[in-house]
Amino acid sequence: MQGLMMDRPLAIAAIGEFAERYYGSTEIVSVTADNPLHRYTYRDCFRRARQLGDVLTQRGYDPATRIATIAWNDYRHMECYYGISGVGLVCHTINPRLFPEQLVYIVNHADDKLLFTDPMFLPLIEKLKDKLPSLETVVVFTDEANMPETSLADVVSYETFIADGDPEFAWPEFDERSASALCYTSGTTGNPKGVLYSHRSTLLHAMVGNSDAVLPLSPRDTVLPVVPMFHVNAWGIPYSAPMVGAKIVYPGPKMGDGEALWRLMEDEGVTMSAGVPTVWLALLAYVRNNNKTFSTLQRTLVGGAAVPAAVIAEFRDRHGIDVQQGWGMTETSPIGSVNKVLPKFDGLSPDEMLELRTKAGRAVFGVEMKIVDDAGNEQPWDGSSSGALRVRGPWVCSAYFGIDGVSEAHEDAGWFDTGDVATIDPDGYMAITDRTKDVIKSGGEWISSIDLENAAVGHPGVAEAAVIGVSHPKWTERPLLIVVTDAGDAPSKTDILGFLDGKVAKWWLPDDVVFVDEIPHTATGKILKTELRKQFADYVLPTA
Ligand code: AMP
Repeated sequence: MQGLMMDRPLAIAAIGEFAERYYGSTEIVSVTADNPLHRYTYRDCFRRARQLGDVLTQRGYDPATRIATIAWNDYRHMECYYGISGVGLVCHTINPRLFPEQLVYIVNHADDKLLFTDPMFLPLIEKLKDKLPSLETVVVFTDEANMPETSLADVVSYETFIADGDPEFAWPEFDERSASALCYTSGTTGNPKGVLYSHRSTLLHAMVGNSDAVLPLSPRDTVLPVVPMFHVNAWGIPYSAPMVGAKIVYPGPKMGDGEALWRLMEDEGVTMSAGVPTVWLALLAYVRNNNKTFSTLQRTLVGGAAVPAAVIAEFRDRHGIDVQQGWGMTETSPIGSVNKVLPKFDGLSPDEMLELRTKAGRAVFGVEMKIVDDAGNEQPWDGSSSGALRVRGPWVCSAYFGIDGVSEAHEDAGWFDTGDVATIDPDGYMAITDRTKDVIKSGGEWISSIDLENAAVGHPGVAEAAVIGVSHPKWTERPLLIVVTDAGDAPSKTDILGFLDGKVAKWWLPDDVVFVDEIPHTATGKILKTELRKQFADYVLPTA
């Protein structure tokens, strides 16, 4: 016997309808190419999203046609999230910092028909257009007056494009399992792979995102997502914030600018922010070097890479701000786990608490986890046995878009192999020890590059650190520590190794330390280890 409850679809457009009605006057503030501080309300946003939805409907696309965006975080991009998905098309967000070949591959693989983009990316599109035959029209996020000169044939400003759309347009209804958005993984090996979200997965994810297990946001919050809208839907914030009426501040192209972010936070009264660790390193450095503080910021969600203890400690001890670490991936929408403190740990000393908070956290309801050895046997949750992390849940991808057959990551039926190596302790706190591909295999034992990096950035003279395995005749691989030093205070190799001594097992100590001006990053701010491995491919360790 089935339950007798209504089967109303979980639809992205429904979030907009709800926010228009209940939080219509809540603000969305954006930095854009044509306006240093654009300000309007949820009501304005969703009326314009309806206009866009109407125009797209009139163009007569087949359901689930892919419509691309290459853009920073701002209000027009948010209108696309709703206008495109709301009419049954797929909003395909693309990372502008991809290598041109990857970008061409992705647009062609997705067969994108339309592209919405910021003016600053037009030169890139002009260069690649001949290789993008599926693209019919390019829509530029500006108005007629600010349209840049371009050699593209079919190009129009966003304001002109939506001008004739009906702001009262009625959203269509369809199956909640319909595809809503598409995001390709960064693809450090092989071609990028497409993760295809559904309306149902997006709503379930956003609802959990708003629960106490994750953010949680409320109408009293102002949230600044520093995590890009082209990367896993800005962790779902453009969906979760309107559900609860939180004000949103979008930083546009100012994502990596510590000063601009700090100013936006202060001027707009930001209470909550989310982003990868690199962003916080830049922001904290600005605040520290300029003797500033935060007057409204209360908490940050930090994830996408291991969060160094030094970042958590500086936020806590200098600014009284709580850093909540989260773990997730493009394939998990992304929220998988969040580090929340169980009441039984309230009495921990500051140092013990810091140790707890450097873990990736406990799975949120809806995501199941296990760790397995090479033969697929489950490993104990004892905090020290490590294994390949596998997950499943209603917002975890079940297959990649447009790829025949079962992917390697889905070979364990019903589970997704994350490619991460992790431990889980008896209380369920999961800690990522490495990527399967980044772990350093020394004499048959594993060394965690992440733990070494975290320990190294604890040195006050180290601005950023990366550890890679370099081949070694006796041990197969040994760790090489690559360091960017802080401008003022440059430590030597001996200083750094001395600092690490006692913080990690002796046999983990890097065999060498090299100093560089810059560590390469992916477009989402993660350390690009593949590039570092290339740069140091011929490196001979002094111990070799
Ligand atoms: P992406 O799909 O580009 O978002 O990358 C996901 C990957 O980022 C994960 O598989 C992890 O390797 C890494 N990652 C995400 N969150 C964390 C975290 N809290 N600690 C360590 N690594 C993380």
